Amino acid sequence: MSSQPSLPPYREFGKLIDTPTKAINFLKTNGILNEEVFCDYGSRMIWTWPPSWKYPKWRCVYSCRCKRSSKAVTTGSYFFNRKANLEAILWVLHGFVARNSLYALSIGNQLDRRTVSQIIFDIYQVMNDDILDEDITLGGPDIIEVQIDESKFGKQGVWVFGMVEKKANGRAGKVFMSIVPDRKADTLIPLIQQYILPGTRVISDCHGPYMRLRNLGFDHIAVNHSIGFATTNNSIGHTNGNELFNTNMIEGMWTAVKHAVPRRHRTVSNCPWKLLEFLWRCKHSNHWTSLLQGLAIRISRG
Ligand SMILES: [Zn+2]
Repeated sequence: MSSQPSLPPYREFGKLIDTPTKAINFLKTNGILNEEVFCDYGSRMIWTWPPSWKYPKWRCVYSCRCKRSSKAVTTGSYFFNRKANLEAILWVLHGFVARNSLYALSIGNQLDRRTVSQIIFDIYQVMNDDILDEDITLGGPDIIEVQIDESKFGKQGVWVFGMVEKKANGRAGKVFMSIVPDRKADTLIPLIQQYILPGTRVISDCHGPYMRLRNLGFDHIAVNHSIGFATTNNSIGHTNGNELFNTNMIEGMWTAVKHAVPRRHRTVSNCPWKLLEFLWRCKHSNHWTSLLQGLAIRISRG
């Protein structure tokens, strides 16, 4: 369906970026470097790359008051001021999309863990900027139902609240995931009201707080797990047929999320980032291209 190139295989990617010149060209081609940079006095600087320099620099003109100052070629970009060369950073990005661990990324690229952590943390910032309210607002006319549930992650017991759309074709649509301090009504109901469009059919288990959803304008159906995995909709005062309802889609989503969030990350500090990554990967079918696009958006006029 998608004609975009997917993550290039390891060797192919190596050929694209294995020298400083190729790495610079790769970044330029993908719009990740600034095309114009100004000195502190406002003069437009010039792309300068004598053969003896590993990377080009932005350099000002003789006539400027800045006395021909220079700036890094990465000025204003995601790549600015990192403690690793451009090729190594690109390998970390590639490995991150391929779901390599921090350990593997650090050993494989001969970078210390702090440097790799910072690169990854900034990838999360790119993802965070990319996830808009509309990406996590569920329901509406083309959606059959939204399934909701809570699940406990890890030994510390981080509660995660999740919602997933079921589309008309029976497939999963948009997803919402967030850590929550508890499973009380005051915690869950505001999230539902904020992120599910009114009138949407909502399927849940029989957890107490959900029982007020019908009064709040949702077409709510509770599935009673104690009497089986599905319920006919006449059990909760709802009689438009004999359809069977279940929460299979959100149950399947928990399996996927728990696979994506390793045990060591199921903490209050790490879980939100891993959930963000999960949402971001749900949003995009082509993670590599989407990440490069996110990095391109991130450049600022320097
Ligand atoms: Zn200048």
